[in-house]
Amino acid sequence: MKAFVTGGAGFIGSHLVDTLIKQGHTVTVYDNLSSGNKEFISQHLEHGACRFIKADLLALKKVEKEIAGHDTVFHFAANPHVRLGETHTDLDMNQGVVATYNVLEAMRRHAIKKIVFSSSSVVYGETTELSLPETYGPTLPISLYGAGKLGAEGLISAFCGTFDFQTWIYRFANVVGARGTHGVIVDFIEKLRKNPHELEILGDGKQCKPYLYVSDCVDGILFGFAHVSEKMNLFNLSCDTTTTVTRIAEMVAEEMKLNNVSFNYTGGIRGWKGDVPRFQLDAQKINTLGWKATLTSDEAVRKAIRDVLHANL
Ligand code: NAD
Repeated sequence: MKAFVTGGAGFIGSHLVDTLIKQGHTVTVYDNLSSGNKEFISQHLEHGACRFIKADLLALKKVEKEIAGHDTVFHFAANPHVRLGETHTDLDMNQGVVATYNVLEAMRRHAIKKIVFSSSSVVYGETTELSLPETYGPTLPISLYGAGKLGAEGLISAFCGTFDFQTWIYRFANVVGARGTHGVIVDFIEKLRKNPHELEILGDGKQCKPYLYVSDCVDGILFGFAHVSEKMNLFNLSCDTTTTVTRIAEMVAEEMKLNNVSFNYTGGIRGWKGDVPRFQLDAQKINTLGWKATLTSDEAVRKAIRDVLHANL
């Protein structure tokens, strides 16, 4: 495979790049390093195992030039911060929807037909059901980030319908692990490094979500890609357990060997506007094909805390 990985210098993208290279594929990483880190792929660059293009997906002509000659696109670049939409209202429109359009249009111009996309559980919005299968609808996101993901899914589906593209769309749970640069674990560790006595926790701490370890995530993506070949392949990617925010705080304090940390809750059921406080993704569709996460949500969180604390790359 000749893989073009957008966001390949990011947290999940760089782990995907590791595996693709290990499997012997040719890889180009296209990343503007806005939230990624070239260090994450430096071992491949040193050995000439991967080509790196530092550029923005909003520059369509550049994407069109660099994408030529590839056969499969893994589109992982996006704004990763769900919360930023509150203050930067055009961010997910540009990084989620316009960037995805540019990728698809560049692919169309070069007759590249396969796209694997990193979507998110947040497309489901706030629902009455707790466990959500891929067939759940209507999908009504409550964050601008979620709207960007759903818009991107819609565009990908339309390019499949109109130009015979083929896609594998994955709606991830919260992904955690080595090279994690954002999210609740990183936030708690940073806060406790500054003040080991007190920890501010957004919301009431009862927010409860599934956490998927990054190697399970990459494994699931490539498993689905290898095992199904419909025109539209849509999967939830998750373990089948959840972890509360307070439990994460306790585990971070334990791993940092801090006793008597006072947890100060900002209150309310959600961490911020647009946060979906409780959900579980139903991963039966991909489980039935033969893939299952190897770590539970608590195990993934514990392992990720250790990775981030010890800066395991
Ligand atoms: P990340 O920030 O580490 O990776 C995103 C990468 O995209 C970064 O390297 C960034 O520099 C690059 N990028 C952003 N905008 C770009 C642009 N306009 N042009 C070129 N490169 C650009 O985040 P991540 O957590 O690894 O997320 C990867 C993908 O998975 C994202 O699409 C994210 O929305 C999605 N996702 C992540 C999670 C999670 O829990 N981490 C959950 C659901 C979905």
